[in-house]
Amino acid sequence: MRNVVIIGSGPAGLTAAIYAARANLSPLLIEGWQSGGQLTTTTEVENYPGFAMGIMGPELMKEMRAQAERFGTEFLTGDVSAVDFKSRPFAITVDAEHAIQAKTVIIATGASAIQIGLPNEKRLTGHGVSTCATCDGFFFRGKELIVIGGGDSALEEAMFLTKFATKVSIVHRRDKLRASKIMQNRGMKNEKISFVWNSIVEDILGDNVVTGVRLKNIVTGKTTELPCAGVFVAIGHRPNTSLFAGQIDMDEKGYILTHNGTATTIPGIFAAGDVQDSTYRQAVTAAGSGCMAAINAERFLEAGEG
Ligand code: NAP
Repeated sequence: MRNVVIIGSGPAGLTAAIYAARANLSPLLIEGWQSGGQLTTTTEVENYPGFAMGIMGPELMKEMRAQAERFGTEFLTGDVSAVDFKSRPFAITVDAEHAIQAKTVIIATGASAIQIGLPNEKRLTGHGVSTCATCDGFFFRGKELIVIGGGDSALEEAMFLTKFATKVSIVHRRDKLRASKIMQNRGMKNEKISFVWNSIVEDILGDNVVTGVRLKNIVTGKTTELPCAGVFVAIGHRPNTSLFAGQIDMDEKGYILTHNGTATTIPGIFAAGDVQDSTYRQAVTAAGSGCMAAINAERFLEAGEG
């Protein structure tokens, strides 16, 4: 029987582990086969406090993991295949064979940026392809960029990128934006932003770094090449919550509903990081909520509610 089981190994899960371990709760952290979360797919992280000269995403996650381990976190590598939050203790099955019982659970399974699905998109991620303007925009000072998408995220990313880029083209598959009117107005007014309507990105070009995209106008069928140094994919995020469907309350997009910081609708189950946050989605905010979840779990156990 475990006091605290943490599912997920990004900044939220590992920070929860550091706090739970230091509270003598001997946490077990279940890390998937691709440990470390979204930061392991980025290059340099310059906005995580404490690293004046920046730090590589995978390195930051390695340090966080080592810190959690140092205080006694136990790690189990595998994919959670089932959970039962309807009875107590809570039950978690890993890789369909390992059964674990827990008094409290911290869900920190994060979210995944939705990708277009092009082979070169994957290959050039971190080399010009990004899903996070806040993280990577700074590297594109004086360059021309494209943003794919037509929602609020695409507009927000594009506006942020105009701080650095000379020109940002928003490539949208329709001739109408999905974004809110206020964001549309701001985007339209921004002289550095232009729109490429009715178009999809057919391929991302470049050997080692992005040099451009091949676009297809889906009305005329015509293909064109547009040179650019970076491609920001902003077509939405998907929280990694399918495992918890029917067990825990979520919003219509699948984000876990929380109150008082990290409490879910089930006492003893907490959620931290991007899995419950569609707004900020930063490593530092995820880490902060991981800390909150661990403290909340500790208080829940102290109150004898487990
Ligand atoms: P979203 O509203 O779902 O928009 C996704 C956009 O990507 C849509 O324009 C969609 O095109 C396009 N798209 C989807 N799949 C595509 C594909 N395979 N290829 C090309 N384009 C594709 O997602 P979001 O912009 O991330 O926003 C998510 C939520 O957060 C929204 O509720 C939004 O209002 C909110 N948000 C708010 C703010 C803000 O207010 N400051 C900022 C960011 C996000 P179609 O339009 O044709 O479907």
